[in-house]
Amino acid sequence: MNSYHHIEKEDPELFTALDGEENRQAEGLELIPSENYVSRAVKEAMASSLTNKYAEGYPGKRYYGGQEFTDAVETLAIERAKKLFGAAYANVQPLGGANANIAMYMALLEPGDTVLGMDLSHGGHLTHGHPVTYLTKIFNFVRYGMKDVETGEIDYDDMCRVAKEVRPKIILAGFSAYPRELEYVKFIEIAREVGALAVMDIAHIAGLIAGKVAKNPFDYGFDVMTTTTHKTLRGPRGGMILTRESEDIAKKIDKAVFPGFQGGPHMHQIAAKAVSFHEALHPSFALYAKQIIANTHAMEKVFKAHAIRMITGGSDNHLLLLDAWKSFGISGGEAESLLDRAGITLNKNTIADDTRKPMDPSGIRLGTPAITTRGLREPESARVASLMVEILTKRDDITVEHVKKEVRNLALAHPIPESFI
Ligand SMILES: *Cc1c(COP(=O)(O)O)cnc(C)c1O
Repeated sequence: MNSYHHIEKEDPELFTALDGEENRQAEGLELIPSENYVSRAVKEAMASSLTNKYAEGYPGKRYYGGQEFTDAVETLAIERAKKLFGAAYANVQPLGGANANIAMYMALLEPGDTVLGMDLSHGGHLTHGHPVTYLTKIFNFVRYGMKDVETGEIDYDDMCRVAKEVRPKIILAGFSAYPRELEYVKFIEIAREVGALAVMDIAHIAGLIAGKVAKNPFDYGFDVMTTTTHKTLRGPRGGMILTRESEDIAKKIDKAVFPGFQGGPHMHQIAAKAVSFHEALHPSFALYAKQIIANTHAMEKVFKAHAIRMITGGSDNHLLLLDAWKSFGISGGEAESLLDRAGITLNKNTIADDTRKPMDPSGIRLGTPAITTRGLREPESARVASLMVEILTKRDDITVEHVKKEVRNLALAHPIPESFI
């Protein structure tokens, strides 16, 4: 566990909150599929003196002096990212996944241009054109979705028809809550036919692609990939934009990130990205990625045995989307708080064709990246799924208490590791 001696002495009020969070992470089971635990080495980089340094610009082209070491740091991050994903260019400055997407739109679109993206209730992300985002005031977002919610098959015929009608500049693939692999070939066929760029937001599955247990969209001809670095990839909170081959696109992206949209890069975060990419290039990371999927399948098997409705019928990746309303007669919100009481953290989620409101939808979304980092394997993952079913079925205080105890024991038996290599 971390120690915070200086904070404890200087700022006891803040220390209390920090210490509470340390314990929560240590003693509960984290099933939010977008969360993970980083290594001590990644944390050291995040806490490094690089936070003191202004480095506006790019390696070799900075606005301020004193860049000998920042250039070395950013170049390491860029080269490792390129190797990890088979990209010709990488911009490692985006502060998060949303920033990466905004910069990508700004680089590749003019105001008023059209993006064809995944329906948000079918698994797309807020930054793919949700009406609450400012993006929808600038660009025009049009949707594709699933043809069959029970199998997760995307309606590629409809996508093609809409693409021919609206002539999008970008066809955007990628998701936050879709448990299946996409048919990348179809995206590329349609994009080429209508003259659109093909962009994939790999925020959720970056670690699975890096670990070679998911297909790499670049192998199918995608032009650009945006991502977070803190989900399955197990790096610091941050974002990144990768370009497969076009120097012209890469230049536009660099300009859009800085000075177009962001200010000085967070060099401590970029150093931490470099460390995490180094970890992800190590052979042990492929085993981690493989175990994530094995653990998801172990959970899926338990849910299937209990006839629980899973959106798309199961999972090919790290996440599962359950219909709590149809399966247990409770809303996603109620399910989330019941599990929270027992130390199992996940999130309520809208499901396709949801009959309930977005603030209290029918579904819950869960995933295995964090518990896999803690060393849980198939039997333990299956046990967690069984405990979930028990709580959501019985829902009484005695059950919650007994599950809470077992969750705590499981967590303490699998402490958060300090290093991954
Ligand atoms: C998480 C996520 C993002 C946003 O990342 P932030 O770091 O939270 O800004 C963008 N796209 C997808 C698909 C995501 O899952």
